[in-house]
Amino acid sequence: MSHVMETYGRLPVAFVSGSGATLRDEEGKAYFDALCGLAVCGLGHAHPRVTKAVADQAGTLIHTSNLYGVPLQEKLADRLCDLSGMERVFFANSGAEANEAAIKIARLHGHNRDINKPTAIVVDGSFHGRTMATLTATGNRKVRAGFDPLLSGFVRAPFDNLEAIANIAANNPNVVAMMVEPVLGEGGIIIPEATYLEGLRKICDDNEWLLMLDEVQTGNGRTGKFFAYQHTSVTPDVVTTAKGLGNGLPIGACLARGVAASTLKPGNHASTFGGNPLVCAAAHAVLDALTEDRLIERAAELGERIVGGLREVLQGNNQITEVRGKGLMIAVETAEPCSQLVGKALDQGLLVNVTRDNILRLLPPLILSDDEADELVHRVSTLLST
Ligand SMILES: *Cc1c(COP(=O)(O)O)cnc(C)c1O
Repeated sequence: MSHVMETYGRLPVAFVSGSGATLRDEEGKAYFDALCGLAVCGLGHAHPRVTKAVADQAGTLIHTSNLYGVPLQEKLADRLCDLSGMERVFFANSGAEANEAAIKIARLHGHNRDINKPTAIVVDGSFHGRTMATLTATGNRKVRAGFDPLLSGFVRAPFDNLEAIANIAANNPNVVAMMVEPVLGEGGIIIPEATYLEGLRKICDDNEWLLMLDEVQTGNGRTGKFFAYQHTSVTPDVVTTAKGLGNGLPIGACLARGVAASTLKPGNHASTFGGNPLVCAAAHAVLDALTEDRLIERAAELGERIVGGLREVLQGNNQITEVRGKGLMIAVETAEPCSQLVGKALDQGLLVNVTRDNILRLLPPLILSDDEADELVHRVSTLLST
């Protein structure tokens, strides 16, 4: 019996090394990693820049706590604000924790406005994490089941539906914020109408709500912009990120601007590990690579190449209902449930994921060559046609 709690249904494979988009298992078999640790290793495995930065920092100073100045954290906050148009950053260790910080900002902001039951709007199909506040915010019954009583202070609305939000605005004076992913990730790579965020921004402005975007999965270049909202004219009040920021080192961030940037005061929030020198060194290496190696632009190019390639090879396959993507968040939707594809892909040396029963999800790394992108199209085509 394993002494690890059974919170995961794990696949029968364990990896011992990796390089770029390739992983190797204990028998030496190679796998094309089209998931990169669930959108975490955007630079691929064992990226030399990250490896060197982490090794150097580990040999210099790993942790001091936030009781003292952390220059690498200060500098990382500067860079993230430059990249995003935000003004201040709180560093956490995961996506859920970054979202917890956002939820606390919203509640405190509400109390500062004399709203005693500050409420955040969240949407169906969303995923925000597994802590009590973030699972309450999550729009998926399976994630919430069994954990009642949930937190109060959340109302649900359908995704990509501005009318529903306007309706809540007209009827619920306790709302102080709206939290939403720009593209639903765990919810199946659902891309809203191009005007959705603009519409939300306007309703938030009209009602003095904070617009809080969960870019834990969409951030750090994955969709072809540093943050996905940068495809639009919208600037949120709060944006959270995590997954791709440290290329596997645990770091999350909650960025804010305007009134939201100065809502948390000393004593209101904290994290022992958050933003320590080691994880910040990794994040600096990620930002260096993203900018110097043009990887954000590459994510857009590669996404078009892969989605275009998949549409071409899957044309006429009546089992496929849609191929869609935003940068390197790619979905192939099938007519029938397709979770068996995960094991079949594994046998073929390909790592993919299925969400929502019938959505094959690809989250490949941003460092793919054109040839590797074409190889991925070929492998997925083989997977779906055999
Ligand atoms: C993965 C994810 C989270 C949770 O991140 P953890 O690091 O697992 O806590 C939150 N929001 C979104 C959009 C995610 O994709």
